[in-house]
Amino acid sequence: MAVVTFDGATRRFSPEASPAVDHLDLEVADGEFMVLVGPSGCGKSTLLRLIAGFEDPASGVVEVSGRKPAPGSSSGVVFQQPRLFPWRTVGGNVDLALKYAGVPRSDRPARREELLARVGLSDTANRRIWEISGGQQQRVAIARALAGDTSLLLLDEPFAALDALTRETLQEDVRTVSAELGRTNVFVTHSAEEAAFLGSRIVVLTSRPGRVALDISSPIPRTGISADDIRDSAEYTVLRTEIAS
Ligand code: ADP
Ligand code: MG
Repeated sequence: MAVVTFDGATRRFSPEASPAVDHLDLEVADGEFMVLVGPSGCGKSTLLRLIAGFEDPASGVVEVSGRKPAPGSSSGVVFQQPRLFPWRTVGGNVDLALKYAGVPRSDRPARREELLARVGLSDTANRRIWEISGGQQQRVAIARALAGDTSLLLLDEPFAALDALTRETLQEDVRTVSAELGRTNVFVTHSAEEAAFLGSRIVVLTSRPGRVALDISSPIPRTGISADDIRDSAEYTVLRTEIAS
């Protein structure tokens, strides 16, 4: 069963301009890690906002698990900027997300610990957001997106503002966490390397309006393979080249 369905979905911002998303048909299957790649302005963020339910299509259908998406409860979202509450602690930011997700107060400490451990931040619960690095802030944003316990995670160029090394580490952790949790992911990026490393399926879009130019399944296994082995594999090189061309 499809977790995300686009059926002839169109989204335009003004009557004169060409649509940002034009009669798009696309399905994301349960457990898939779909990476969307495409040039700037082709409608990737619009697509994610439609899935998140932040916006509605002008025509056609966008559904999550067969229903109209509800912002905040059908999916967890991670943006390029972490958008945390800087005056709160790391744990405090996660607590707030758990509260909004309707987790009872008595269950929150255990859930918070579990989430922070997932994203490698067990030692940082009491630090203030302004005291931690950009990479750690993005880890908090991921923990927050996981707090809702929704089966769908949407990530919009989440690592674009990070340095190369931090970015690679976070890619590895997101790949592992998604395999462990078995969630469905839609991940937007500009980077062919990131797409080839992360995706179980990679969809390349054309420039505006974004149409599907390429839709490939990755032959790289989701578990039981190290990050170095992935990046050294022939499959990875072939994928990366195919995506970039
Ligand atoms: P991407 O994320 O692929 O860079 P976007 O989805 O942000 O692309 O934007 C797709 C197109 O829609 C762009 O041409 C952009 O200028 C336009 N657009 C996006 N959001 C708005 C908005 N709120 N109002 C008007 N135009 C918008
Ligand atoms: Mg964008």
